Amino acid sequence: MTDRRVTVVEHPLVQHKLSYLRDKDTPTVHFRKLVNEVTLLLTYEATKEFATEPHEIETPLEAMTAQRLHGKKVAVCPVLRAGVGMLDGVLSLVSSARVGFIGMYRDEETLHPVQYYAKLPADLEERDAIVLDPMLATGHSSAAAVAAVKEAGAQSVTLVCIVAAPEGIETVHAEHPDVHIVCAAVDRGLNERGYIVPGLGDAGDRLYGTK
Ligand code: URA
Repeated sequence: MTDRRVTVVEHPLVQHKLSYLRDKDTPTVHFRKLVNEVTLLLTYEATKEFATEPHEIETPLEAMTAQRLHGKKVAVCPVLRAGVGMLDGVLSLVSSARVGFIGMYRDEETLHPVQYYAKLPADLEERDAIVLDPMLATGHSSAAAVAAVKEAGAQSVTLVCIVAAPEGIETVHAEHPDVHIVCAAVDRGLNERGYIVPGLGDAGDRLYGTK
């Protein structure tokens, strides 16, 4: 993928864990843990461009100039419900992040998103927003979630998902060309029910054991 606005993390650990996420025989208890682990690794990539600044410290041996994050504040916004399964993965790396929630469900006939809930941090304009949605399928719900975060003031938005379809990437970038998408894989496409193929099935059901 040459589009600089899309980062596919091809690290062997990510791809290894993704293969277990895809496997239909992986039980919920493992699926949940793997989603967190993959998200942590994706977050590592998603925050790669964060600026650092010099900071004077003393090690037990001598004084030195070390690097610390340059006033970066993060707001992480999972899209309910499957995005919540990714939240701990981000917070284990960026523990001071504020958290906002966006409730979005997909109308199974139109495949279009319906927002039913939003509770976002008040100071979003001062923060880098990371939107979490594990399956970037048609892209409509992710694009709507990004729009909600921007309307609430976010100036910089990164979308972290686990599996993306080309259609979803196109939809998000048609509406939000500024958004950086970080994912573990870009799959072949969507089936007639709007599921990503080969994909990993319904991420929410697999995370919460609802099917
Ligand atoms: N949502 C999912 O959980 N899986 C898909 O494949 C598409 C949308």
